Amino acid sequence: MNDEVRISQDSFAWAVEHVAEAFALTRGERHTIIYANAAFRRMAVPDAAGLIGRPLDESLSTEANGVLRPVLDRARRTGLGERSGVIVGLVGGASPLSCTVWPDMLRNGDTEHLVVELRRASADDMAPTTHRAVAERLLLSALREQDAARDAEVSRRGAALLSAESRRLSESLDERATLAAMSRMALPHPGDWCIVDTVGPRGSMTRQAVTHPEPATQAALSALDGRWLPRDDDEYGLPLAARGAGPWIIASDSHAFLHSASHPADVRDVLAGIVTGPLMTVLLTVNERLLGAVTFVSGEPERLLGADDIALAESLTSRSALALDRSRLYGEAIALRARAESANEAKSAFLGMMSHELRTPLNAIGGYVDLLDLELHGPLTELQKQDLGRIRSNQRYLVGLINDLLNLTKVAGGKLGYSITDINACDLLTECVALVHPLIGQNQLEFDRVRCDAQLTLRGDREKIIQILVNLLSNAIKFSPPGRRIIVEGARTSDRVLLLVADTGIGIPAHQLDIIFDPFVQVKSDTLGQQSGVGLGLAISRSLARGMHGDLVVESTLGEGSRFTLTLPIAAT
Ligand code: ADP
Repeated sequence: MNDEVRISQDSFAWAVEHVAEAFALTRGERHTIIYANAAFRRMAVPDAAGLIGRPLDESLSTEANGVLRPVLDRARRTGLGERSGVIVGLVGGASPLSCTVWPDMLRNGDTEHLVVELRRASADDMAPTTHRAVAERLLLSALREQDAARDAEVSRRGAALLSAESRRLSESLDERATLAAMSRMALPHPGDWCIVDTVGPRGSMTRQAVTHPEPATQAALSALDGRWLPRDDDEYGLPLAARGAGPWIIASDSHAFLHSASHPADVRDVLAGIVTGPLMTVLLTVNERLLGAVTFVSGEPERLLGADDIALAESLTSRSALALDRSRLYGEAIALRARAESANEAKSAFLGMMSHELRTPLNAIGGYVDLLDLELHGPLTELQKQDLGRIRSNQRYLVGLINDLLNLTKVAGGKLGYSITDINACDLLTECVALVHPLIGQNQLEFDRVRCDAQLTLRGDREKIIQILVNLLSNAIKFSPPGRRIIVEGARTSDRVLLLVADTGIGIPAHQLDIIFDPFVQVKSDTLGQQSGVGLGLAISRSLARGMHGDLVVESTLGEGSRFTLTLPIAAT
């Protein structure tokens, strides 16, 4: 049985339970008795419990059924009330009775119940006063039903409001937009308005919005913007919540509440002119953190705020609190990212500047080493020459490192220009292999030849591709023990050229494959021990590749070797 039916049945029972006349309510085509008042129960059957839930005709003799059933059926069908002839042979009673039937219609015109009244046939006509009393009571139940329908409508509007509110709140991660969405929040009763206050980072209270459904009142309230602020002695809203009250406060005389604080006279004047009913403050909290408070002010002085209003207000505010918290966190994350980005930029600028500053004296060191080595200032002993050799190799290492750093800061900062041309892939690969060929021999590695289609042409910056390929080849040589193989190939897809540098060296553990492209990452190797380099080559190479609308990827199996593929756009034929 749905709520509306239960309410109507309850109302009916409330109206007729103790009247002298016998009333019952039936339902459905079989006229199942769903309620019988005390008089009916007394009149119809000795065992009242057996009456409810059974069809009415089971309580009647066949003869009585013959008279009553057509009347009941007709009333159901036509929706019109009717009075029966004399009925004899009710199960529990012997005296002749007469019956009056009223259909109880649903709003769609269907008959929901029949109201059945039995009375002794001898009392031919009911006294007019009784008729009036019953009519009044039925009217009263109809009114109660109307109330129930209104409540149902309000909760339907509440549910619709909640879902619309959730949608609006979830639409934005921006704090201001979330607050704007919250400010339009109100209970679904006409004339209700709302005040939204929030707590700032240092506990400061801000009145975010005051929303009233009537434009004129809204204009008057908006004119108080910046004047009607939360005051410590307010007996409602955020100040009271901040004093530890809550989760809600309901005030019966909200005028007194709104006026109680030491607000300016113009504020009090405007508030005095607004019709208000009770008010209720609900806290905006997330994980017990107080973010603010929403005060709902009823627009009807007579309105009672009930459990439904509190539940709806709490749902609205808990959603708002989550949305507000989320948008604040998002705002903080954005601010943190901006700070991190600017710190990163400062770091890059510093690295760039330092590298420049270091490069000049390091080049000077190199120059003086060459000068000494040429023995222009006098002959050198063998030991002095050896020491000069060590100074030179360290100087070169430092220059290389600084060049890499400069390169990285330029590439990462997007400050590098690219001079893109059509380049023959095969020539390019052969040229790069020639540059490292002595090292292949020195490390006793096997190298067959460059495998590539002679016509293959790509688009890119020649110098930068050479830088990438030489880095890949140097790594392949560096991370391959003697006797292993280096493979260099050019291939193509429909729109890309693939330049491949593979080796059968030590390989890279699977869990490190992603991070070797990050700056300063080096994989520890048991096989080869400490290798030169600082872990910048691949980071620079990938950034360069991407700067040319290409990419650099790796496949590798530990102990078996690695395969780096540089992809670049193919040249139009
Ligand atoms: P560097 O060579 O200066 O250390 P890279 O950025 O060029 O820096 O390479 C990063 C790391 O990736 C290397 O230290 C090495 O651990 C791993 N690596 C790169 N290429 C290979 C390869 N062909 N075989 C095995 N490991 C490699």
